[in-house]
Amino acid sequence: MIKRLKELEKISRLLEPTVKERAETRKEVVAYTEEFINNIETIKAFNMDAEMGEGLLESPITEKGIGIKKAIRLIKKNVDHPALNPASGGHLGYIPGGGIYYSALGDYLADVTNRYAGIFYAGPGAVRMENMLISWMAGLLGYPKHTAGNLTSGGSIANLIAVVTARDAKKIRARDVERSVIYLSPQAHHSVDKAIRIAGLKECVLRHLPLDEQYRIIPEEFERQLLLDKKNKLNPFLVIASAGTTDTGAVDPLSTIGDIAAKHGLWYHIDAAYGGFFVLTSEGKKKLAGIEKSDSVAIDPHKGLFLPYGLGVVLVKDKKQLHAAHYYQANYMQDAQGFDEASPAELSPELTKHFRGLRLWLPLKLHGVKPFRACLEEKLLLAKYFYHEIKKLGFETGPEPELSVVTYRYVPKKGNADDFNKKLLEAVQKDGRVFISSTMLEGKFTLRLACLAFRTHISTIDTLLEVLKVNVKKLSA
Ligand SMILES: *Cc1c(COP(=O)(O)O)cnc(C)c1O
Repeated sequence: MIKRLKELEKISRLLEPTVKERAETRKEVVAYTEEFINNIETIKAFNMDAEMGEGLLESPITEKGIGIKKAIRLIKKNVDHPALNPASGGHLGYIPGGGIYYSALGDYLADVTNRYAGIFYAGPGAVRMENMLISWMAGLLGYPKHTAGNLTSGGSIANLIAVVTARDAKKIRARDVERSVIYLSPQAHHSVDKAIRIAGLKECVLRHLPLDEQYRIIPEEFERQLLLDKKNKLNPFLVIASAGTTDTGAVDPLSTIGDIAAKHGLWYHIDAAYGGFFVLTSEGKKKLAGIEKSDSVAIDPHKGLFLPYGLGVVLVKDKKQLHAAHYYQANYMQDAQGFDEASPAELSPELTKHFRGLRLWLPLKLHGVKPFRACLEEKLLLAKYFYHEIKKLGFETGPEPELSVVTYRYVPKKGNADDFNKKLLEAVQKDGRVFISSTMLEGKFTLRLACLAFRTHISTIDTLLEVLKVNVKKLSA
């Protein structure tokens, strides 16, 4: 046995590279990432690539490893080349963010040291850091200091945690589901529908509320429907509003909806995954007034604080409710009980988790908040700038942007407008310097600009305007 153990040890020690191996491997990784960032302003935001990363399959996982140079070549060709480049400032589709560098270094630190951020007892510093960040975000939104929350992988899980908490807080048992009512906007993000389904609430009565011409919930219609539902002996328990819809960037009337929810004892959740961090700007703060009236909120640092993908946040005003929906009991966890500081494992579905706090804490500490604030204000202004310039080019536009999403389409003198805009979108993708996406609004194929990548500046918007102008001309000829 001893002999076998020695043999095994020799091989397993390969998992700890030597100083030299670490240095050599790191050198290649750093060289590649430096090249990536140094060229980010000129590499395309979208690459048509028929292979779509298939080359990865030609290099299967085997008993024997390969060198870092080979590995990076595989990544470069198959992962970082095809389709969308979400790190590019030219990413103006969906909801971008970008991926700030110090976050990557935060991940590096978190991963090398492998701190355990699930339980206070095991990782007090890591958990404290996460709780401190939750308090900071609670403060930004006007939530009380003792707000509970969780750093999740993204907004979808944040919404799910909130919906589950609402379900349990309002004591919706299986037999209540069919007569319980959830109010939401037809423009609610699909992750909200998904959360409702996963939470076992898909058989609730779902009231998709009427919207005004700026795609915002009409509060009077909400209350009218709510009273009607009460009269009909249904059980209204949850209303979900958006602080920035993905489609159009609309902000529902957060304050009035909050008053109605409070009056009738509903749980009030706000999906601020896209728009929440605009509270850092004075304009955004005004637009999001009333957000503090909610019971829970989802907000995405990997959008509004430009972090690399992998960080959303849920905040819940009443810690007891978040805890009641997510606590655990297990004999093998008995040593971890009995601390004042909240542990993420008791407030979320996860036990072992990535130490996500460091990827947010480090950039906030190194940069300070100031450049984040400026970058968000810049994005609000760029959306306004685009909105006015695109009108000058003869495009039809949706409402003036409330945040940083603009919807627009070109209506040609002859021919089908939907087809025209589809072709226009394809032409923009083929050019590839900037990337935009589309949606259907009132049955019409509509182009979207979503300005939230931290590397997007006025020159990026000018490039998009130029690409649109040239291609409208080409397609009209
Ligand atoms: C992006 C987004 C989500 C989903 O968040 P993920 O981080 O992608 O999981 C939810 N709601 C809104 C409004 C969003 O923009």
